[in-house]
Amino acid sequence: MVWRYREDETVHSFPELVSSRIAGLDKVFVRNGDGRDFTFAALWKLSGQIAQVLVRHGVGKGDRVAAQIDKSPEVLALFLACARAGAALLPLNTAYTSAELDYFIGDAEPKILVSTPNQVGTLEELATRHGARLLTLGVGGDGTLAEAAHVEDGGFIDIPTSWDDLIAILYTSGTTGRSKGAILTHGNLASNALTLVDAWRFTSMDTLYHALPVYHTHGLFTASNTLLLCGGTMLFQSRFDADEALRLLQQATTMMGVPTFYTRLLAQPGLTRQAMAHMRLFISGSAPLLAETHAEFAARTGHAILERYGMTETNMNTSNPYDGDRIAGTVGKPLPGIDIRVTDPSKGNQLATGKVGMIEVRGPNVFKGYWRMPQKTAEELKADGFFITGDLGRIDDRGYVAIVGRGKDLIITGGFNVYPKEVEAEIDQIEGVKESAVIGLPHKDFGEGVTAIVVRADVGVTEEAIMSRLQSRLAKFKLPKKIIFVDDLSRNAMGKVQKALMRQTYAELYK
Ligand code: AMP
Repeated sequence: MVWRYREDETVHSFPELVSSRIAGLDKVFVRNGDGRDFTFAALWKLSGQIAQVLVRHGVGKGDRVAAQIDKSPEVLALFLACARAGAALLPLNTAYTSAELDYFIGDAEPKILVSTPNQVGTLEELATRHGARLLTLGVGGDGTLAEAAHVEDGGFIDIPTSWDDLIAILYTSGTTGRSKGAILTHGNLASNALTLVDAWRFTSMDTLYHALPVYHTHGLFTASNTLLLCGGTMLFQSRFDADEALRLLQQATTMMGVPTFYTRLLAQPGLTRQAMAHMRLFISGSAPLLAETHAEFAARTGHAILERYGMTETNMNTSNPYDGDRIAGTVGKPLPGIDIRVTDPSKGNQLATGKVGMIEVRGPNVFKGYWRMPQKTAEELKADGFFITGDLGRIDDRGYVAIVGRGKDLIITGGFNVYPKEVEAEIDQIEGVKESAVIGLPHKDFGEGVTAIVVRADVGVTEEAIMSRLQSRLAKFKLPKKIIFVDDLSRNAMGKVQKALMRQTYAELYK
């Protein structure tokens, strides 16, 4: 089914869609790690109570509510509350420092900043300086916002909105330059959640193991909205712990994770075919899943991990099929109602099947633009509705999309293009190598020098051994000029290798 929200006349906003499905449902939606259960009905009521508090504090249509709070079911109630009040939630990574918050709050100008109770001392001055009121929400459902909400009756009448109105602003991780606020609409979230329920066959019988952060699109929207609309249950954990995951998966039918969750699970002897026999579906995304992890997981559990591809600006774009071949090293085909094409990164014209180029996406899932950055928006959202993702990839003759890397990670050395993934794949196959990241570093002769950062499984593996193997496999211009051995690749909470950080760390290598 392709849900075309513009043609649907019965509901007009994301909260209306949610309430039409679950508002009075007396069934557990979130089973929280601390033992607290939230039914759909309780969550809906709490969202109404919080909306009443927001409105009392002057929040109106189009306003922003920023939140830097720890994961709890109340975060979902806050998100719904903002949507019901016609406002936008601005979730902020809990790792951001107050200097970083200063930029986000200054840029988004929220009416309210919600923090954890223990951050009040640090953030009070910042909030006041930017004209925002500071309220608090703790992991146990405590704090000034929660207290104020509990005295409200919850009988909130939603502020009328349309599908094109903003519902959230999510700042992209922004590894170069200023972080950009992606404006998402009611229609973006509704269309994508309904598409995913359908594509991944979610029903009210499902229980999802949820250990993702909820300040990021993966945990906040992809996972939570899908389960919200299908009427399933989520097992909420504040962070991923492989031991605990193995135990909790016994009560689950599905899991959504980043690749690191899967590699950590594979290190658990208890991960067996028998232990996972009851599971229906394992989904991975947010960073590339190694083909080797896919194969190892299938051999151990009998489950082919379903890999999908999305981003903050677009929600989910492609997915391997529920029925049919889930091909390792690919992110599957465009989801229903979504168009994907590959174009020449410099000229913009569409490329033929199999050619590597810029991935562009169009559909009801694609965001409205960047907050207060009309020029950036115009550069990245084309007039025909396609968004330039910044990811390089190709589409094969079966329609499966494979991602080759981020455009900005492309290395240009001596005038030749080197796709890091190609070199990484060769290095990773070498006996004794665990994983690698290939980056370009400033080089006086070549412009950029191909550099490999390698994690060894066997410390006996030498630079010479790796180089001699690569020499027989890769053109000379693709060969690393240097190999750096490290204990770990720096990854962020979403499992993404921080190549920009690596480029900074080793910037002087060839100077
Ligand atoms: P974010 O906006 O933080 O969700 O990051 C989006 C980016 O993550 C995409 O543009 C891709 O570069 C990357 N990404 C997401 N899913 C995958 C995947 N399955 N394989 C490879 N990269 C992915």
